[in-house]
Parts: sequence; structure tokens; C-alpha cells
Amino acid sequence: MNSLPTVLLKPGEADRIVAGHPWVYHGSVLRLTHPAADGDWVQVKDHRQRFLGVGFYNSKSKINVRLLSTERLEPTQTFFEDRIQSALNFRKKHLPGTDSFRVINAESDFLSGLIVDKYENVLVLQISSLGMERRKDLITAALEKILSPRMIIERSDMATRKFEGLESGNETRVEKDETLTVNLNGLKFEADLRAGHKTGLYLDQQLNYQLVAGLAAGAQVLDCFSFVGGFGLHAARAGAVHIRMLDQSAEAIAAAKRNAAANGLAEKCSFEAVNVFDWLQAETARKPHEKLVPRWDVIVLDPPSFTRNRAAVPNALRGYKEIHLRALKLLKVGGTLATFCCSHHVDAGLFQDTVLSAAYDARRILRRVATYTQSPDHPIIPMIPETEYLKGFSYEVVK
Ligand code: SAH
Repeated sequence: MNSLPTVLLKPGEADRIVAGHPWVYHGSVLRLTHPAADGDWVQVKDHRQRFLGVGFYNSKSKINVRLLSTERLEPTQTFFEDRIQSALNFRKKHLPGTDSFRVINAESDFLSGLIVDKYENVLVLQISSLGMERRKDLITAALEKILSPRMIIERSDMATRKFEGLESGNETRVEKDETLTVNLNGLKFEADLRAGHKTGLYLDQQLNYQLVAGLAAGAQVLDCFSFVGGFGLHAARAGAVHIRMLDQSAEAIAAAKRNAAANGLAEKCSFEAVNVFDWLQAETARKPHEKLVPRWDVIVLDPPSFTRNRAAVPNALRGYKEIHLRALKLLKVGGTLATFCCSHHVDAGLFQDTVLSAAYDARRILRRVATYTQSPDHPIIPMIPETEYLKGFSYEVVK
């Protein structure tokens, strides 16, 4: 182990690492004791030669080292098996009763650069670091040993791969398209594992579907940014009277329709492939002195993040405010707004401020009745702020 190339940090750069953050930025590095090739396993020490951990080196990335352990371990198949097993144990404890979930969520599971989703007995792998790319065979062998999947599909098409000097593009290990029917909370959903969003479905909302559905009995529900109907179909099953699903993607709406039919809920549902901003604007547009009569009991807003980076935040907030303002105008008194924000760059406080600013303009008073976070298969490690991104609230319209 002591023969490993050592990355020495500059004075003052060790604290964040000691606190549990696994990224060593280029700017923190004083020097390497021997040359390391990109993708190599290295050890990291502070400027006083105190051992901090081991991980993958990549000079091409701004993140020079992705630490994987604070012990002197090697990235063997057993190492990956241990990490996968402990991630699985955590899911069994906190998300019992489902066989579709995120098995490995990168930094959240101390495996920076690796995501593994499980859709029943099929695994979808996403690799975003060079070190992980080089150990793909060990990782798939470990996954096969522990989970015995019917198939492993690789979906390494994330934009972030280019920061590691990796080619982008699907390297799917199967030839044919894979659309699978997956059971979430007892409802059937088609998951397009090859071309769908994320790795097929928004598994991070799995618990929230149930929680929001609990507010929907007897309601007229508007599911904005519905994708394939996660919120809408759970609300339908929970006794909503009617659900309108809106998404600009025609394929998502077509899949939502098939999902509604597959679950025997089609009669309660209507669908429209539209831009939600345009739809809300048209619904709230009134001639002078013409009164808007709200007709929705529950509105769900689950937009995409709109913020690739911090610079995009002000524009995103304007977008968030606009949809909240219009949704609040369309909700009946006593109705509920269930709203989500999946941008890491907009925290819960800023998100709620945006909702309140919309409520002010709509002259509505809100009572907060629920707060939501990402499902537990996307664990939050508070010392790694990047692991926290999804937050949501439900508000009742008091008046
Ligand atoms: N609620 C969904 C996930 C929504 S993801 C679920 O739980 O599965 C965001 C969705 O918004 C995507 O399906 C995308 O197609 C859609 N979308 C993005 N911009 C949009 C817009 N301006 N109008 C309508 N839909 C949009």
C-alpha cells in the first residue's frame, strides 16, 4: 500500500476531506510522490503526511481524486461486494417491500462515479468516472454475485462523463430495446430502460407518490410535468375523481396512457402533451373584470430542474414563480398544491421563498401540510451537500 502513488494536499485543504467529503479538487493538490496514470488507485495524505484515504486519480478532471475509503483498501471485487451489500442493507431497512430502487447512488453510497438502479431483476448501470470505468468488470461481477440479475444494461450517457475525459454515449450491453413493466407501490409502470429519462423512471419520487396520493381522495387533480403518470396514477388509485396529466413529451404522455389502462384507471384520467407554462397561462388568462373560477382540488408541480449550474438559478426561480402563481390561481380554497424542486442549487428555503412570493402575488394564504425529500434509496449524506437535491412541500390554500 505504501508503494501507491501519494497525492499530497496543500496545507489547509484536508479539513473538508476529514469531514467526509470525497472530492479532492485539482487546486488542493500540492504534488504527487510518484507519477500516477489517470484511473489509477492512489492514496491521499495531508501536507504533514497524515493518511486521509484512497481513491481514483484523474488528472483530466477538476476532481483529481475521488476518495472511496478512509481505510487502506484496494478496489477489488470484494471491496465492491461489501459496498453493494451495505447499500442493499440500508435499502431493505428504509425502503422495504419494493424490488425496484436505486441500489447505488454514487457519493451517497461512498462509490463516487457509480449509479446502479434495479428494476425488478434487471440492473441499469451508469458510470461517470474513469476509475469506475476501468473497474467495470469487477463491478458487474460483484453485482452478479450479490443480485443475480437477469440482465445488466449500461446507460453511461451522462453529460458529466466528458469532465472525466470519457466518451459520452450509450454503451448498452444488450442489443434489443428493453421496455419493462415495473411495479411501484403495487401499480404497473412501463420503464424504458434504454431511452427513458434517468435510467427509466423517477425512482427518487417513489415514496412521495404515496404521500401525495394520500391528499387526493375525492379530488380533481392536475398532474403537471407528469412524465409517465407517477403522481397521477397513484392519486387515481387513492380515490381521486379525475386526474389531468400534462407533459410536453408526446412519448411520456403515450406511456402514461398505457400505464393508466394497464392499471384499470384509464376512465378517471385525461392527458395532454403540452408545454405546462403555455397551458397554465391559457387557463389563467382572463379578460378585464372576468373572474377566474378555480376548479382544481390538488395540483402537482414536478418540473425538471431548470438549473444545470448556479448561474441558471435566477432564471429558474422566475420559471418556478410563474408556474406557482398560476397554479395557486387555479386551486380552490381548501385545495392542495404539492410542489417539488429537484435542483441541488435551489435549497428548501429558497424554494419556499419562491412559492411565498407567488402566493403574495396571487393574494393567497397557505398552510404547509407536508414536506418531502428524495426517497431513501437516494441517501443524503449531509457532509456531502451535493447528495441532497429533491425537496417538496404540500400547501393547503387557506383563503
Ligand atoms: N413527475 C414525474 C417526473 C417529472 S420530470 C414522475 O414522477 O415521474 C419532468 C417532466 O417534465 C419530464 O417528463 C419532461 O418531459 C417534462 N417537461 C419539461 N419541461 C416541460 C414543459 N415546459 N412543459 C411540460 N412538460 C415539461
